[in-house]
Amino acid sequence: MLEDTIAAISTPIGGGGIGIIRISGPEAIKITEKIFKPAVQSNWREKKFKLVYGQVVEPGTQKIIDEVLLGVMPAPYSYTREDVVEINCHGGPAPLRKVLEKVLQGGARLAEPGEFTKRAFLNGRLDLARAEAIIDIIRATTDDALQLAVNQLSGALSLKLEQVQAELLNIVALVEAAIDFPEDEVEEYSDKKISDRLEKLLREIENLLAGAEAGKIYREGIRTVIVGKPNVGKSSLLNVLLREKRAIVTDVPGTTRDIIEEVLNLGGVPVVLMDTAGIRETKDAVEKIGVERTRATIEMADLVLVVLDAAGGIDREDEEILSLVGNKRGVMVLNKIDVNAHMNTATRDKTRNLLPGWPMVEISALQEQGIRELENTVVELVTGGRVITGEGVMVTNVRHKNQLVKAREHLSEAIAAIQGGLTPELVAIDVRGAWEAMGEINGSIITEDIVDKIFADFCIGK
Ligand code: GDP
Repeated sequence: MLEDTIAAISTPIGGGGIGIIRISGPEAIKITEKIFKPAVQSNWREKKFKLVYGQVVEPGTQKIIDEVLLGVMPAPYSYTREDVVEINCHGGPAPLRKVLEKVLQGGARLAEPGEFTKRAFLNGRLDLARAEAIIDIIRATTDDALQLAVNQLSGALSLKLEQVQAELLNIVALVEAAIDFPEDEVEEYSDKKISDRLEKLLREIENLLAGAEAGKIYREGIRTVIVGKPNVGKSSLLNVLLREKRAIVTDVPGTTRDIIEEVLNLGGVPVVLMDTAGIRETKDAVEKIGVERTRATIEMADLVLVVLDAAGGIDREDEEILSLVGNKRGVMVLNKIDVNAHMNTATRDKTRNLLPGWPMVEISALQEQGIRELENTVVELVTGGRVITGEGVMVTNVRHKNQLVKAREHLSEAIAAIQGGLTPELVAIDVRGAWEAMGEINGSIITEDIVDKIFADFCIGK
């Protein structure tokens, strides 16, 4: 258990029915006592779960600061496994700041970002992968992203990792026994048996990695840009998409994310639209976005939607834009198909061939035709058809993915060593390396600075 008691405002700043100050640590109840007056005299300090109605008052003068509900959650049955008190104040910035000030004067220290969750991890309530799921739940912008984060919090990924780790440790033990007792027959040890077991693990890790690309997209969104020459209908498409598909995105105070981009929910995939200002600027006198700017935004994007005008036909300017997308992934969006004299089949096929490998979708932004098909095409393209299932395990976090890649390398080395007839000592080094790489995912083997770095990404009060 950690020594000091921490406190923070755990709800977003702004007007709201309630706002919560969270206090955690050995002094939580003692500090609250100094400022809380229950409405009915009771022994609210006793260590039991309860909600108590009363007031927060100035310690000396007893002047009322706010009317509150106190949630008392004694250790170890709390979020942090420490004594926790949550003061449910009215949700305005003034009462929250004032009550927090009194709590800090009473002896608590202002919590660092993510410190409550860090304590939950350090006190053994959550492993690291599950603690990280909490931040993903807070930031989820679509139902599917939420589902994945909740699965991770419920421990589906952790369980899978534990199984792999346990098997790795068993193998380490066997290989090390073979080092220590080369003469004796270690019954389960044979090069063939060990290499089969390692290969099975390798396949499991590869399976996890195969889903990681799609998983990352659900967690972080896919950075998308809409490009095309002036008047093809980019802003019309943008408006249709925003009207129908805009995802709920809230500012997360205290996080590094300072620009709020437009986020669409396309079939559960968070699509982060970049440079939407650039599209709208084309309405100004200065018409062209300019090739350089288009090139720069394409460069940063994971996905490109190139809008073409089916009624006006394809010209050099379109071809120039198409030549910029290079090896990016994307969709050709053929707009204005509502216009009577739009492309004939031959021209359409020719257009399709301008970017072989890219799907082409025909739409009318004006009449909102083909939007659903565009959505399905994007989802298929970025997820490769992987669907989110109820209790599915999907790696969504880049840190986890990197550790899996390390584990895979070690396993491949170990397999190569054993099949190449190298000594068990050399095999053991790599199996152990794989085990350590896995351990950094759930935090069973991890250094303090990695832990600090992970939790610093959280917001204050979490
Ligand atoms: P941008 O310059 O690429 O952003 O193009 P806009 O969205 O401003 O559209 C240019 C013009 O094309 C406007 O007059 C739109 O009303 C029109 N337009 C956009 N989409 C369609 C469409 O699907 N069909 C038709 N007929 N006109 C469209």
